[in-house]
Amino acid sequence: MREAERWTVGEVSNQSTGYCPDVASWSAVAHALDDVGIERPYGFTHEVVFRRCPACQEHNIVREDDFVCVFCGSDLPETWNVDPIQ
Ligand SMILES: [Zn+2]
Repeated sequence: MREAERWTVGEVSNQSTGYCPDVASWSAVAHALDDVGIERPYGFTHEVVFRRCPACQEHNIVREDDFVCVFCGSDLPETWNVDPIQ
């Protein structure tokens, strides 16, 4: 957004269905914006919780802390696990 003759971040989200980044990626976003001197919020304005289902391998967006796979009904882990190296 343009605000008083300078640019600021109005909204920022980790919603990327390609990378499925953890909400902990905020620190990298904050660093990048601070480095270029752009005002920013104190965290994601829209946080998305991604998990990969250990049973069927599908990517899920966890809604309302319901850690259950929408594809097969299996439990999803509490910690982020969408890293392709795993
Ligand atoms: Zn599943």
